[in-house]
Amino acid sequence: MEKTNPNEKTGREPNRAIACTVSECAHHAKTCDFCALEKIRVGTHEAHPTETKCVDCESFACDPSSCGREGSAR
Ligand code: SF4
Repeated sequence: MEKTNPNEKTGREPNRAIACTVSECAHHAKTCDFCALEKIRVGTHEAHPTETKCVDCESFACDPSSCGREGSAR
């Protein structure tokens, strides 16, 4: 039986352990709401984080097709 790639449009295999809706990221699976990286790094830009908005995905890289510029992967 032929194997089907759920992300044959992008060639990115979704990592179903990392749900993500940030489709502007270069690492996003694009065809579904998952990251395509094997692992990510999460951090904070606050001295004392207290809310969800204090926490960031530090593996984010700007997708040139969305952001119009090159991002950096960590
Ligand atoms: S690197 Fe972070 S922001 Fe980018 S797709 Fe993965 S989890 Fe989302």
